[in-house]
Amino acid sequence: MKLAFLGSGAAFSLERYNGAVVVEDRLLLDAGAPLLPHMHRLGIDPGGIEAVLLTHLHGDHILGLPTFVLYRAFFPSAAPLPILGPPGTEEVLERLFTLSWGEAWAQHRQQAQLEYRVTEENGWVAGVPYEAVKLDHGSMDCRGYRLRLDGRLLAYAGDTTASAPLEKLVSGADVAITEATAPGGAESHTSWEEAKALAERHPGTRFLFNHVFEGEVPCGVHDLEVMDA
Ligand SMILES: [Zn+2]
Repeated sequence: MKLAFLGSGAAFSLERYNGAVVVEDRLLLDAGAPLLPHMHRLGIDPGGIEAVLLTHLHGDHILGLPTFVLYRAFFPSAAPLPILGPPGTEEVLERLFTLSWGEAWAQHRQQAQLEYRVTEENGWVAGVPYEAVKLDHGSMDCRGYRLRLDGRLLAYAGDTTASAPLEKLVSGADVAITEATAPGGAESHTSWEEAKALAERHPGTRFLFNHVFEGEVPCGVHDLEVMDA
């Protein structure tokens, strides 16, 4: 399973950019990083992204999208681009894109062929079956994804406290990308200590930690890293 980390930092990260992961060159999980330059540096074709899966609508997870969707408008792909997210995703993103590109966005939207979908409990996207788990991220509606790719299960959390739904999300996963925000705890987030304990409770799962506020976390990932997991 090829995973490319375009960014691996929390909102205030000074070094890691905000989070965005590309799976198998075709699924984009969250969109906080500078997507186009980082895809370019990792050899990923922005036109090859077949779906965008958003966990939630905080700025550090969506603010890479305006330039990405404009690219898709100017270099359209043959198929529409599904964008999955919690209820309200279309309204929030359309405000963001209109703020970014003004009146021209109405035309660009048609060219980009965006197809907004509310994340379902069980569904399919770009030929990939997924389950979504509602996570605890304070007042923000957040969904983690369980994606089945070539017989393997990838769990992707976005932001969440270390709570029962997170356990459910990673249960039985071959690979789990979860957050490890900071040592000692962070409101609405998973601390380094909680992330380590989570991994220890699921020894059959390979954990990759992102959303790192500072420093180095064991088993963490760096920006602009491609790995086979
Ligand atoms: Zn968040």
